[in-house]
Amino acid sequence: MMLSSVVFSFCFIPILGNLCQENSATYHFRLGDIRGTVLYDGPLTFSTNPFFVPFEALRSTYKACFRPIEPLTLSQNVLLLESKVGRVLVDPGSRGGQANPLLASGGLLFRNMRAAGILPESIDHIFLTHAHADHVSGLLGLDGGRAFRNAKVYIGIKEHRFWITEPLPISEDHPLRDTLLGFARTYRQSIAPYASRLVLVRDGGAPLPGFRFLPSPGHSPGHNHIQIASKGESLIVSGDAWMSKPDQLQNPSWQVGTESDPLNARRSRMKLIRQAAKNRSLVFAYHEAFPGLGYVVKSREGSFDWVVAPPILIGTGVVQKCTS
Ligand SMILES: [Zn+2]
Repeated sequence: MMLSSVVFSFCFIPILGNLCQENSATYHFRLGDIRGTVLYDGPLTFSTNPFFVPFEALRSTYKACFRPIEPLTLSQNVLLLESKVGRVLVDPGSRGGQANPLLASGGLLFRNMRAAGILPESIDHIFLTHAHADHVSGLLGLDGGRAFRNAKVYIGIKEHRFWITEPLPISEDHPLRDTLLGFARTYRQSIAPYASRLVLVRDGGAPLPGFRFLPSPGHSPGHNHIQIASKGESLIVSGDAWMSKPDQLQNPSWQVGTESDPLNARRSRMKLIRQAAKNRSLVFAYHEAFPGLGYVVKSREGSFDWVVAPPILIGTGVVQKCTS
């Protein structure tokens, strides 16, 4: 479905004094009755090639898309949806400033929320597509408590159970075993303050009206994509079914190192990519270039391509003073 309208105001309610004079990396759109905002959480920065393909192949496709490769970075886009059920945040980013260099450059979410006048305590619900650290570590406040004081957290039941299993059922010879063990520790720490507010969602479940969790396993054992519908319009939140255009969208057979089950990951990826292209669905992709809103299309060569939601709608990088 097409975006029905876009909102260029940079002043949300509640407004935070003069903080809304800051430049905020946000993108506003509307989906039926839902007001959507994409907030930039910063780059995910890789010091080595994260894909199991020769570096030259990676360099070539990134160069063709005008994307830097040294270092290779992926965007981290956080989706906020304001609907009748309250404020829903999807995958609250990485915490930033962490020892793990991969995650050190994230965590801009909170600054961008402040700049947009959105209080963390005003978030009612947080959906998680999966439990990897770049999607969940933003849950944890700097004081070790809840960064989102009043939010419930929703995650697929299979995903949750996998990452809390002790010892973690990862094969001894998984090439990124230590990274995945670190992800498990981060997930457990991040959700601990939300223990009484955790909602485990079954495959295909709709924990809130208009928001449905659908299984797309492989990237992680219980990875979900989320189908959102309002007033005849719909949006697919693809999570990490694929990373971004130059890598796994144009080359769906490429494996990213942290995949739990590469065969299933590829199967889920192809299914969702084909479905999005066939239905001409609006897609929100966490790691596509900010704002990560766009469409998947089949290219003339038979592969797939990413078409950014019309550029005229993009309201990023504008410095605008509040008048109210
Ligand atoms: Zn990710």
